[in-house]
Amino acid sequence: MLGAGRFYASWKRSKDTVDSETKKGMVYLVGAGPGRADLITLRGAELIKAADCLIVDKLANPALLEMARKDAEIIHVPKRIGPGSFTQDQINRILVEKALAGQIVVRLKGGDPCIFGRCTEEAALLNEAGVDFEIVPGITAAIAAAEYTGIMLTDRRYSSQVAFITGREAEGKEDGNIDWSVLAHFPGTLVFYMGIGTLPTICEQLAANGRSADTPVALVANATLPIQRVVRAPLHQIVETCSREQIEPPALIIVGPAAQGEAGLNWFMRKPLFGRTIVLTRDAAGNAEMSQKIILRGGRPVEFTTMALQPLTNRNEFLQILTELTSYDWVLFTSPNGVDIFFEAIGAFGKDARVFASVRLATLGTKTAECLARYGIKADFVPTVFTGRDLGLQLMSYANLKEKKVLLLRSELASDELVEVLQQGGARVRDVSIYTAVPQRGDASALEEQIQQSRVHWLTFASPSAVRGFFDQVRRDLVNAGTAKVASIGPVTSRELTQLGVRIDLEATEHTVDGMLDTIESAERG
Ligand code: SAH
Repeated sequence: MLGAGRFYASWKRSKDTVDSETKKGMVYLVGAGPGRADLITLRGAELIKAADCLIVDKLANPALLEMARKDAEIIHVPKRIGPGSFTQDQINRILVEKALAGQIVVRLKGGDPCIFGRCTEEAALLNEAGVDFEIVPGITAAIAAAEYTGIMLTDRRYSSQVAFITGREAEGKEDGNIDWSVLAHFPGTLVFYMGIGTLPTICEQLAANGRSADTPVALVANATLPIQRVVRAPLHQIVETCSREQIEPPALIIVGPAAQGEAGLNWFMRKPLFGRTIVLTRDAAGNAEMSQKIILRGGRPVEFTTMALQPLTNRNEFLQILTELTSYDWVLFTSPNGVDIFFEAIGAFGKDARVFASVRLATLGTKTAECLARYGIKADFVPTVFTGRDLGLQLMSYANLKEKKVLLLRSELASDELVEVLQQGGARVRDVSIYTAVPQRGDASALEEQIQQSRVHWLTFASPSAVRGFFDQVRRDLVNAGTAKVASIGPVTSRELTQLGVRIDLEATEHTVDGMLDTIESAERG
């Protein structure tokens, strides 16, 4: 699912997050928010980081668990019918058991933990067992669904009150607390949770009790996620519209004038990449980072790992270079990965940025410079260019490199252009590979199916090795014959695609991941 861990990387786990004096353990009933991972509260996120054990509902975004400690126990408790499901009794028992064993337990629930969340039962049992608990509120689905679709639940013109109602009771299977006549005459906005299955009954009851057939109704499914959908129709038509549109849970039903929504307020679905499925083909970490960028632009990322980065810093060549680093005039880094891998390797020897002492450093692009800055080094030269060749040319117009010693620390797979340009300028170049990419294979059948069914809008390629890794696994003819468009980060990657006979729909104007997404956005805007 969607990687969120990075969003929170800067939040330190505080010792004060939990009451460390507690011997007995403690249960935190935490609202995970409505779908999108970063809509959780700061308190909720800190507790996830601190937990010994997490008991997780189906509706909580799985990406939130990336924040959990590596050694934390994670128990998924979907409450549906069939194998692997948990009854409320079983969940209660696990909560108490874990807390009595002295653990910090986070009970993570979708939305707000108490809105239709069976908190009363869990809290009562904890009280009975003498276990302390804390309730951490979350953004409930109704609020999020409305605000992500331009619906104002309250508006002084037409809705001075809101009711949250469970749709489960509509069929009369559970004890009925619902007074349909009150709801039918409610002068505000009704929001039904868990009502997809009982939508026909809800509509019938409202109509039978006097609600006008023209009352606006909206269904919002998967609110706040890139797969969010909204369907609108008057009360007498909504059942038919929903079955035609095949709306699936989780979804909310919003009834009343507010459900009409205001087009000008529908900011989320207006985002240029909204509803676009974009396949990422880098290494796992690269994909996770790119996923975040796509989510922020409203798109739906699908991560497909084609390779893994492998450090080459255990080679003799690297060790030897380390001893003579200060003899170089310039060191060039050409990617953030190279910077990270370099500092990880020297960190293992107890060394840090001081290895560069008076050496001057240049980076390819600002992203690499930002990465270097995280290790305390301000690059001396950062041309805003995106190819090695341009870096070489610009560096030479910035500094006289004649007879100067220049060290390149970069990928084994990088092109020779940079070396050639620098050598032509009279530099004495040493090109040291500090990492490489090794192919990784996964199960491509699900992705092939999505491509075939035209459910993918873009396939993105950020390097020639990603191209090779991808087409080793996914059939080229499928891509060429399908509707998914192919985006390339730049000329070197495009060359690889062309050599393999793959049709290219778009090449990024600026040869970075952000640049590629910008170009895709422009293409989508048309
Ligand atoms: N405690 C949760 C609600 C649990 S009941 C909260 O506060 O949001 C589960 C119901 O919530 C689902 O049947 C659906 O009606 C609604 N729901 C939860 N997440 C949703 C989402 N992302 N989009 C639309 N409805 C959602």
